[in-house]
Amino acid sequence: MKTLFLNPPHPLDIRLDIQRYTLRTRAGSLFPPIWLSWAAASVPDSRVLDAMASNLAWKDVLSAAKDYDLIVMQVDSATVAPCIKLTEDIKRHSGANVCFVGPHVSVLPFADEILKRTPYVDYIARREYDYTVRELAEGKAPDKILGLSFRNNGDILHNADRPFIENLDELPFVNPIYKRDLPMNVYRIHELRHPFTTIFSSRGCLFGCRYYCRWPAVFDGSRFRARSPANVHEEVRWVKENMRETKEILFDEGTFTTIPKRVEEICSLIKPLDVTWSCNARAEVPFETLKKMKEAGCRLVIVGFESANPEILKTIRKGVTLDRMEKFVKDCKRVGILVHGTFMIGLPGETKETIENSFKFATRMDLDSIQFSVATPYPGTEFWNYLKEKGRLLDSNYIDENGLQQAVYSYPNMTGEEIQIASENLHRRFLFRPRFIWKTFRLAFSNKDEMRRVFRGLYEYTSYTLRAGRKVHAMPGRSSNVVLDR
Ligand code: SF4
Repeated sequence: MKTLFLNPPHPLDIRLDIQRYTLRTRAGSLFPPIWLSWAAASVPDSRVLDAMASNLAWKDVLSAAKDYDLIVMQVDSATVAPCIKLTEDIKRHSGANVCFVGPHVSVLPFADEILKRTPYVDYIARREYDYTVRELAEGKAPDKILGLSFRNNGDILHNADRPFIENLDELPFVNPIYKRDLPMNVYRIHELRHPFTTIFSSRGCLFGCRYYCRWPAVFDGSRFRARSPANVHEEVRWVKENMRETKEILFDEGTFTTIPKRVEEICSLIKPLDVTWSCNARAEVPFETLKKMKEAGCRLVIVGFESANPEILKTIRKGVTLDRMEKFVKDCKRVGILVHGTFMIGLPGETKETIENSFKFATRMDLDSIQFSVATPYPGTEFWNYLKEKGRLLDSNYIDENGLQQAVYSYPNMTGEEIQIASENLHRRFLFRPRFIWKTFRLAFSNKDEMRRVFRGLYEYTSYTLRAGRKVHAMPGRSSNVVLDR
């Protein structure tokens, strides 16, 4: 079957298929759709169409869909409704079968609900879907395909889960698909030099912070599966030789630094290639490993600190102490690796004081860039279960009318609205500190790629602030919140 892997257009310009969240970001970040593209690499006669990156209208997508027999769409909690609407239109314009994939539909009750709710979705490939979709495209009988949910004579059937792929080296590289099908120049993350590309060197995550992180909980599992260092090196070399315009490679799996010895092996292999790269890391990488990462071209690590409150860290089972986090950041500074820190606002136990302490912790560590996200209780996570049991889940719209994260819950001491406003204002307070401005401009004037990165980020953030500013100021409660008024 001719297969189209589609990242659909969205009225709010929502960015799909990033590793953890679906939302519109303040700095206009847009990632290449790695899961769709990587799966497409295993399916002959397929193509990836990123309607958002290619700026395609609804009618263009419908016209493209006519040429295919199977349309695979990654659907997320925040985008189910528009994806179902698009599916209805696709069905009216073509005879293609439609298969939904992604973490939201990997939760069995949601897969069941979607197949009951609309006759237009034919299949759901749950969890890691590379081979499930390949078998579907090869025409194998649906009842023989592991991991597939489907409709049969009016009944909804869910086949047994497909075991995770153990040998990731057997998967084709994703970057040739990026180069073949996607407008790589359009993708942009303000922390990275432009243009950039992404690679996963592993799948699954063995760390315990699945309290809020749904990927290992519902999608790619809690068993860490790693590509061999030689296989990772081979793809980096392919990028170096075939995507020469690439300025940075992001190892974008949950945690690139899970096994320091393996990281060091990858570093020693890619060092001679002289590439600039960055990765998602945990704040507990040994100093010696950081040194080797720097020598091999690592420019930046993206690290989830989440909170400066030990009780909250315990609840979410972060598994890293505040002292270790501070030491990690100091070590990064010693070797010369930049740190982008991410925090979550609104986890259970959060108060105005804990938020303020997280802010002070971030400034004390003098992080190079920052993200304060609204903690999002995705279905399938313990956070979601907790809020549901306590009757604190108020809404199922994870994004607001501006495409931004929405706190869909409320606590006795803090409303969702206050949590959202706190997240907005912490960014402003962090970014408009003289120390941060001085540091950022000094970095910008050190290198022309850094200059482009910094000024583009500034432009995007200013545009965002002008767009969202009116709404934030109109929110009630702002003047009563000590955190918000700084
Ligand atoms: S380390 Fe924690 S947050 Fe990161 S991918 Fe693993 S479970 Fe998710």
